[in-house]
Amino acid sequence: MFVYNRPVWQSSLLENLGVGHAFSTREGGVSTLDHTRSMNTGFYRGDSDDTVRENIRLLCSYGGVSENVVGSPQIHSDEIRVVTEENGGEGITRDVPYPCDGFVTDRRGVSLLIRVADCAPVLLCGIRGDGGLIVGAVHAGWKGTALGIAPKAVGMLFEMGAERVVAAIGPCIHDCCFNVWEERRDAVVSLRGPEFAGRHIKERNGELFADIAGMNRELLLEAGAAEVDVLSECTQCKPFLYHSHRATGGNRGTMGAVIGIK
Ligand SMILES: [Zn+2]
Repeated sequence: MFVYNRPVWQSSLLENLGVGHAFSTREGGVSTLDHTRSMNTGFYRGDSDDTVRENIRLLCSYGGVSENVVGSPQIHSDEIRVVTEENGGEGITRDVPYPCDGFVTDRRGVSLLIRVADCAPVLLCGIRGDGGLIVGAVHAGWKGTALGIAPKAVGMLFEMGAERVVAAIGPCIHDCCFNVWEERRDAVVSLRGPEFAGRHIKERNGELFADIAGMNRELLLEAGAAEVDVLSECTQCKPFLYHSHRATGGNRGTMGAVIGIK
């Protein structure tokens, strides 16, 4: 279940495990431009770098996670990096060695940040037999979703010793709004098969609408996640509360999701 602990969304599935995390909205930040107000975690969208860094620091404080945070330019891939506290600051105050769309760590003292504006933010937590925690964060647009970045993260948590994995999917564009071209459905068909595509991409009034939250939920469960929390909020439906690429034609800020072991 998701709770709006203003200004961020939090999943009871993750809260109950004792990990810190937060999915941002447009609220609670220091950006003052019309299109980035007020919580923008994305560089190069009009805010100064210092403003963006202050927003990220605030988001970490809302999530109760370390301000030693790692992020990355995102490339709609299924690349996930295993990081430690030594990677803190990458993608925030210094360059990354290579770009990626997700992170996992079993270390305290580093938080993971991914950024979205319609794409699905997925936060994960794995529990080892001794009670130790492993956390993950991935950015899943339609392409990353179809490539399987979310189930890949589940697999990495199991490889790192998790015996149980749970996940939460935060605010993203839903199938009320996410109409896609046939080429995009064809890409999902070729990557995931026609039955999967048929379950999650449906025709309405002659147009195709994709359910990326539903796709990620199914893939996470298939990969072995025990439970998946899905927030039903659609970013394009509520551009006053969320940064939505589609609602704004791209003139927008960027939301973030952070997670870290307390
Ligand atoms: Zn919608």
